[in-house]
Amino acid sequence: MSLFRRISVAFAAIIVLTVLVSGGVDYVSTWKNLPLFVTKIHTENIAAGLSRFYTLEKSWAGLDGTIRRNGYLQVADRVSGADDGVLDLSIHLVVRDAAGRTLYNSFATLLRAGTDPLVKGGTEALYDHETGAAVGSVTTYINRGYLEREAAVYLKNMLPERLFQAVLTALAAAVPAFVLSRRIAAPIVSLGEAAQEIVRSGTVGELPVTSTDELGGMTSAFNQMTQHLQTQRELRRRLISDVSHELGTPLNVIKLEAHGALDQLKPADDAFYQIMDEVNKLSSLVDDLNWLAETDSGVLQLEKVPCRCERFVTDEVARWQVQSEAAGVRLELAALPRNLPSLQIDVEHMSRVLGNLIENGLKYTPAGGVVTVSCRHRPGEVTITVKDSGVGIMPADLPFIFDRFYRADRSRHVSTGGRGLGLSIVRQIVEMHGGTVWAESKSHDENGTRPEGAAGWGSSFHVRLPVA
Ligand code: ADP
Repeated sequence: MSLFRRISVAFAAIIVLTVLVSGGVDYVSTWKNLPLFVTKIHTENIAAGLSRFYTLEKSWAGLDGTIRRNGYLQVADRVSGADDGVLDLSIHLVVRDAAGRTLYNSFATLLRAGTDPLVKGGTEALYDHETGAAVGSVTTYINRGYLEREAAVYLKNMLPERLFQAVLTALAAAVPAFVLSRRIAAPIVSLGEAAQEIVRSGTVGELPVTSTDELGGMTSAFNQMTQHLQTQRELRRRLISDVSHELGTPLNVIKLEAHGALDQLKPADDAFYQIMDEVNKLSSLVDDLNWLAETDSGVLQLEKVPCRCERFVTDEVARWQVQSEAAGVRLELAALPRNLPSLQIDVEHMSRVLGNLIENGLKYTPAGGVVTVSCRHRPGEVTITVKDSGVGIMPADLPFIFDRFYRADRSRHVSTGGRGLGLSIVRQIVEMHGGTVWAESKSHDENGTRPEGAAGWGSSFHVRLPVA
């Protein structure tokens, strides 16, 4: 059964049950309260009639006559089997004067009591309406069978009206129930169809989010999931093409060099060195890919130890001095703030982070430039910055430089030898430490031109780490 049908059936069952229960409660309460109500009305009517009689006559003489004439004693039935004029009265009356003397007692008019039990209807005072004086009282006793018959007749008369009311209520409730069933089922049905579409074709368009409730939340979560899936598919496609490209280039070089040596077109030693160079590149690419695969699968565990911040950055800057001299770029450590806190880091991995940022700074800064490492301490965090005076990064590239295999300028990578994996590894390590990394750069002015006589305004990479 479809979801829409199931929700509709549930709603229909609820409506029918509600109508039945409310009708049942109504019936029972009418059955229970109607006799009391009828009794009260009868008693009040009789009291009003007798008071009117006294006000006109100024005495109780002729009371019997007025009671009979007005039909206050309603004859319910002739008592079964009695031919002696014994009547089962519907209502019995006892009328007393102001002094409490009995003036009239319908029980005395009977030879024997009726068969049905009696319900005491209550006592009402009688008044002379002109003087306002209390002139007596009337007490009623009403035949229970009579009351029940009255109630049954009333309920029977009301039955068609009640049925009509129930049908109308059910119909009125069915309209919003139908609309609601559609509204609940529609997004779930669309989600199911969209999921099947993903299985069939691998892609699906964005589903419209029509509400802000849980169903709307579910649809937007589904949209996010499909978006994520598509991004992952795109990343996987790019990764495969990038990896095959990265493997292909050195393999081609190796092949050419080997052929050159075999055909004696080039000295074997030269070819051998070139081949070793390419093999080293391949092996470092495989290392990087292994590292990323391990972090992706959650296998890689950090071994964090307390480490003095100034010690860490000082050692790292010292480690890169030889390369900076070779590149003709000045590598400086800015004056460190006093009392830098200890960091809880995996020193080997974090050294890879800082090393990678310094290496990039040296790589992308022309000779004569400067790369500066500095630290800043804020409550709960330390930020290490590597700033260079190099070529800078175009605003269009900035959001992607931490993506795998992203290289801002592909032609440039031939000279720098970059593979576009360094920064994605940096981000992974920093995030595993609970930190964040981001870059700022301005390589061109608003008109897209480089500053005169300079390579660019340089780039700054910031690593913010929480303090233990
Ligand atoms: P690569 O090995 O290519 O340097 P990275 O992941 O380290 O790969 O960097 C990705 C890209 O970001 C680089 O190709 C380069 O275009 C850009 N980039 C990184 N650091 C800098 C920098 N300091 N100055 C300018 N561009 C940079």
